[in-house]
Amino acid sequence: MGLVVCKTRADLADLTARWCAEGQRIGLVPTMGALHAGHISLIDAVAPKTDRVIVSIFVNPTQFGPNEDFEEYPRTLDADLDALASTKAHAVYCPRVTDLYPDGFDTLIQPGRVSEQFEGAERPGHFSGVATVVTKLIRQTRADVAIFGEKDFQQLAVLRQVARDLDLGTEIIGAPILREKDGLALSSRNRYLSVEERKVAGTLNAHLRVLKEAIAAGTPFAEAEDRCKTSLLREGFSRVDYVTIVDPRTLEPAQEDADAAHVLAVARIGSVRLLDNMRLK
Ligand code: AMP
Repeated sequence: MGLVVCKTRADLADLTARWCAEGQRIGLVPTMGALHAGHISLIDAVAPKTDRVIVSIFVNPTQFGPNEDFEEYPRTLDADLDALASTKAHAVYCPRVTDLYPDGFDTLIQPGRVSEQFEGAERPGHFSGVATVVTKLIRQTRADVAIFGEKDFQQLAVLRQVARDLDLGTEIIGAPILREKDGLALSSRNRYLSVEERKVAGTLNAHLRVLKEAIAAGTPFAEAEDRCKTSLLREGFSRVDYVTIVDPRTLEPAQEDADAAHVLAVARIGSVRLLDNMRLK
C-alpha cells in the first residue's frame, strides 16, 4: 500500500471512516513538517502499537506568537512526502488552515498549571494553540494513540494532562530524543544556525551531562543549575532562558531527590532557542 496523501479534512474523513469500519487501530504523529530523523523515529515507535499510522503536517498558526517565526518556519512538503514514502506511515494529513480553523472558529483550549512556566511563560498562548490543534487533529484522525517527542518535554506533559482532563480517550505516548553525534537534539529550527553557532549548539547536551554528574556527586540542585547556566554563557550561548530541575510529571520544582527529577534547559544562540532535557536518575 502506497502512502495516502489527504489534503483536506473530507479526504481524511473518508479514509479514517473506512479504517475504523475495518477495526484498524490508528496512530497519529503530529508534526509541523520539515521532517528529520527525529520525526521518523516517532513513526517507528508508534507503528508496532497500531495498525495504521497517520503523520500530520500542519504549521499551526495558533501556537505561534506575533513576533515568532510562523512566516519563516520551513515548509518543505515535497521533500517531506518523499521522505515519508519509505517509512511505516500509511497516510499523511496536510490540511489547509480552513480544515482546522474554518470561518467562525471561536474556541481555544486553555491548559492549566503544567503549561504556565517555562515555554508557557516564554511563549504566551503557545500551549493553548498546541492543545487546541492536537485535540482537533486527534478528533479528525480518530487516533487511538498519539505520539510526541520527549524533546518537547513540557508539551508532552501538557498534552497528557489535556487528554486526561478532557476524556479524549486517546493514549498519549512519548518517544526518546533523537540526537546528532555531538548530542544536539535534531530540530527543524537547527537549520537557522550558522556553522559557528552549530558548534556551540552541540555543547548544550554535554553541559547537561556535567550537571547530571554533579547531582550524582551530591551537589545541591540550585548550585548545579547555576553552575550549568554560567558554563553555557561562557561556552558562547547568548542567553540562558532556564536550566531547572523539576518533577517530570507536574514540572513543579523537584525536591532534592535525583530519582524523581528531570532537568529542562533552553539556551539561545542569537534568536534560535535550543531545547534539551535529561532524566537525572
Ligand atoms: P515539530 O514538527 O517540531 O512540531 O515536532 C513534531 C514532533 O516531533 C513533536 O512531538 C516533537 O517533540 C518531535 N520531535 C522533534 N524533534 C525530535 C527529536 N530530535 N527526537 C524525537 N522527537 C522529536
